[in-house]
Amino acid sequence: MGEKLPEDLASLSELDEKSLLEVLTGRFTQNLIYTYIGDILVAINPFKYLSIYEKEVSVSLKSLPPHIFAVADRAYQSMLGRLATGPKNQCIVISGESGAGKTESTKLLLRHIMELCKANSQLEQQILQVNPLLEAFGNAQTVMNDNSSRFGKYIQLRFQNSSVKGAKINEYLLEKSRVVHQDEGEQNFHIFYFMLAGISTEDKEIYGLLDPTRYRFGKEDVVHAWRLKYAEVCNAMDMVGFEEQEKVDMMTILAGILSLGNIAFETTDSDALKVSEASRGWLKATAGQFGVQEEDLLKSLTCTTSVTRGEAIQRLHNQQQAEDARDSIAKVAYGRVFGWIVSKINELLAPKVDCDVELSEIGILDIFGFENFAVNRFEQLCINLANEQLQYFFNHLVSMENSFTHARFVPLFQDLFLTKPIGILSLLDEQSAFPQATDRDFVDKLNSKFKTAPNFEVVRNHTPLFTIVHYAGKVQYNASGFLEKNRDTIPANIRELFINSVTPLLSVLFAATISRTGTLMPRKAKHSLAVLMEKMFAAGPHFVRCIKPNRSKQPDQLDSKLVMDQLRYNGLMETIRIRRDGFSWRPKFREFVERSFGLFSFSCMSILNSTQLSGWKCGSSRLFFKYWHQEELSRLLERLGRAALVIQKNYR
Ligand code: ATP
Ligand code: MG
Repeated sequence: MGEKLPEDLASLSELDEKSLLEVLTGRFTQNLIYTYIGDILVAINPFKYLSIYEKEVSVSLKSLPPHIFAVADRAYQSMLGRLATGPKNQCIVISGESGAGKTESTKLLLRHIMELCKANSQLEQQILQVNPLLEAFGNAQTVMNDNSSRFGKYIQLRFQNSSVKGAKINEYLLEKSRVVHQDEGEQNFHIFYFMLAGISTEDKEIYGLLDPTRYRFGKEDVVHAWRLKYAEVCNAMDMVGFEEQEKVDMMTILAGILSLGNIAFETTDSDALKVSEASRGWLKATAGQFGVQEEDLLKSLTCTTSVTRGEAIQRLHNQQQAEDARDSIAKVAYGRVFGWIVSKINELLAPKVDCDVELSEIGILDIFGFENFAVNRFEQLCINLANEQLQYFFNHLVSMENSFTHARFVPLFQDLFLTKPIGILSLLDEQSAFPQATDRDFVDKLNSKFKTAPNFEVVRNHTPLFTIVHYAGKVQYNASGFLEKNRDTIPANIRELFINSVTPLLSVLFAATISRTGTLMPRKAKHSLAVLMEKMFAAGPHFVRCIKPNRSKQPDQLDSKLVMDQLRYNGLMETIRIRRDGFSWRPKFREFVERSFGLFSFSCMSILNSTQLSGWKCGSSRLFFKYWHQEELSRLLERLGRAALVIQKNYR
């Protein structure tokens, strides 16, 4: 072991970027990946196995240095009201860029909470199997991360007193476009590869699957590990409680999506559009797998039917339109399957308690980090606005805790783009409601409304571009396709096609007029995120900030600039300063006395003077403590409390 480095960055007497980085780097080289900034946990991804998550470690946690399990512990104890007074419900917000370790942290938190509450084994197993299941369907290999979550999630654990009774998941913004298109160096959702590699010959026939190399949507060399992964997914489904038939239906739909992807079109000499000769077989296979008539499928690919004044009008597609229709069917079907999995999990894990029993909750938010690519589309806007909201939430809490420093955090962005009636999303909704409006019109509207706004920059170009200055940097967006994606409507004939499917899963999925919270339509995203924010504001917050040490996913390598950039745009530098200078716990006199000494009526001063605490302040109605005082005080009071009990006994 090398020199002893501080476990809490807020305790550094000299605070500059250099000393901060030195501490983090020093700790990282000693495999100390966790560091506190007050009560915020900074976690640097080790990209290697560490023994700090073994069972023995989690048992002896009380004496442990900064650790993800300690966050779980704190959230759990706070929910039980054993720590400071505050709301019962807790939320743990995990943030960081892609590959920083958010999902791994989520899993560790879940695991440890399950251990703390000594969950009954079946429910515990069900809850722990949810992640592998969701990862198979919602994660994919990207250039940033071999197991990148392509959706955001909020997992809520529900408790009755100290024992877990159930769980609920909300998912946000699944990146459905990945089903039909993957950039260089990226893959489709894991499940396609797992299925193709791991399926038995017998099941292959049932689902109508061919050799993996035959599919355009899932072309990869089969990796042995995928076979095992498939078995794991099937096992997870069994454990969570999916029925055999549901599994078969689901896999058959996935097989259908693969076949659909292979359908190609060509134009005949007479300019008519038809399915290419080579893909006739795929058309037949897809129809079989989706449980629909071949002619109906063909029709929904090659033409759009609209009803005007009671008359059905058919518009024939050109080749591009037919390919678009094919891809949108694949995306819609996949999105629905994913949403269905989530709602099924929610149904299976719903707490089985009388409705008048009051449940408390620990929520864990694992949502994609800020994104800035060469081309940024609608999906990036949604993700970045969600991050903007989270950052606002974080800043709000940090600055609220300290009345002396709030001036630095002006919620400018919030006002401009999200809450005001003419926010960016409202404008988008407004434009989407006009059938004739174009993406260009939307950008023109933005330009005229926001041209003088500090967070907005006009881009003069004939492509509809605009720039937003986010807290984490400037991002230029290409608005092509924004209106269409925001509308996210399923053409009537595609819906019709699926409603008539003989596969119950498909017909049920499409019979629902509007997607459940499951497949979140982007347009609904802002509403459901608003609901989430409301929930989080009312809960006791805990923050885990994940940091990626290098871009090459290597252990024992730390790129200082990369780490510094993340600390900066996470607002962590600012946080350190606030935590160090600020008073995070500010109880009223009465609250303080009651909490400290429920037994006696002491005055605050006599309590405090009997301890050796220093650095606190006394205001006109409340006391001001720094965050570390709370723990110190608990320890002192525990000792004093025992003495007090003795005195009380002697009195009687
Ligand atoms: P994304 O936003 O792309 O979903 P993420 O922040 O969820 O990224 P993870 O998938 O959690 O990132 O982590 C990426 C990889 O880093 C993991 O697959 C794992 O290999 C490694 N990793 C993360 N955290 C740890 C850890 N605590 N110990 C060991 N390895 C880890
Ligand atoms: Mg993830």
